[in-house]
Amino acid sequence: MIVLKRGREKSLRRRHPWIYSGALERVEGNPGSGDTVEVRSAAGERLALAAYSPHSQIRARVWSFAAGAAIDAGFFAQRLEAAASLRAALPDARHTNAMRLVHGECDGLPGLVVDRYADVLVAQFLSAGAERWRETILDALAEATGCEAIYERSDAEVRSLEGLPPRAGFARGNRNARRCPIVEYGLNFRVDVEEGQKTGFFLDQRENRQRVRALAAGREVLDCFSYTGGFAIAALAGGARRVLAVESSAPALEVARDNLAANPLDAGRIEFAQADVFAHLRLLRDRAARFDLVVLDPPKFAPTAAQAKNAARAYKDINLLAFKLLAPGGLLATFSCSGGIAAPLFQSIVAGAALDAGVEAKIIGRFGAAADHPVALEFPEGDYLKGLLVVKN
Ligand code: SAH
Repeated sequence: MIVLKRGREKSLRRRHPWIYSGALERVEGNPGSGDTVEVRSAAGERLALAAYSPHSQIRARVWSFAAGAAIDAGFFAQRLEAAASLRAALPDARHTNAMRLVHGECDGLPGLVVDRYADVLVAQFLSAGAERWRETILDALAEATGCEAIYERSDAEVRSLEGLPPRAGFARGNRNARRCPIVEYGLNFRVDVEEGQKTGFFLDQRENRQRVRALAAGREVLDCFSYTGGFAIAALAGGARRVLAVESSAPALEVARDNLAANPLDAGRIEFAQADVFAHLRLLRDRAARFDLVVLDPPKFAPTAAQAKNAARAYKDINLLAFKLLAPGGLLATFSCSGGIAAPLFQSIVAGAALDAGVEAKIIGRFGAAADHPVALEFPEGDYLKGLLVVKN
């Protein structure tokens, strides 16, 4: 059992699932990593059942606020069924066989991420509680989805904050998972589940790739931070005149070329450049290159608010250069997946970039993560991806 300091039950009453170490008055019964503990207010009121994590600043994560709940195999089966049926009911399900099945806290399963790539699942156990129930969760996932192959990518940095070592490999089944074929809105992609970034593919950008595709006709397109060519190939499929994709990772570009080959598209209209985006944008500027559509989808520059200042400089830099490269009437689709940069701050960074570039521009659209990445209302941290569609005068 853990007992909170007086007044520190407020966030739990709003159903926020995290309990920070500083909120604890005392811990009773010496719980181990991942053990289920009862959470009580200073007055002794039962508030929740949570997973204890002795090494983390987030000392406990709530499994359930329900009185009389039991955290057992049935609990996980039920939560996973609910997550799976939410996805099955989404319109996206008619257009793709790759979806985020479990989005951690937002699906009531703190620390658990599961992506489905056709008939292969990729699971990440990122908290002490998720780790503790790993076998139960794997069984329930196989049961809920019928997928025989489950690859584990518990190799994310955040595991160390929970005192957990990295782990990767097949947890269930086995097959070659270096090029899992998926379909997204009629486009074929290959996902490197074993060595790719995160779980192999950025599913959160699915709808945004579609929007870029719809905007690309006849345009000269620059896709920065292209990874395996998601936006670049969507733009080509949308009728872009030419596409330049810039990405620093050689293995990602190898998959990008496979992705291109997997679609009936004119490969003569696309070029992949292995380069650092910061340097390459300057090179393009010095060559007086012009584009009608620029996509900026950088990695997380600011995982937390503490890194926001340096991150803001980096975002401003690339957005400023993008504005300079845009032809009049050109479009900028600019993203941030940094949890530490809220949407209003991102907008002001982009505004500052336009100002310093000496251009006028208007927001004509906004982007977020696709619906298979739901944001629980009580957990605003789940709302990490933001983007702006900007037109240059
Ligand atoms: N837009 C992609 C996802 C981008 S993820 C999609 O839709 O699939 C961010 C990518 O930026 C990663 O592939 C990473 O390798 C790349 N990257 C990170 N820093 C970079 C840099 N300085 N220059 C070029 N690419 C970079």
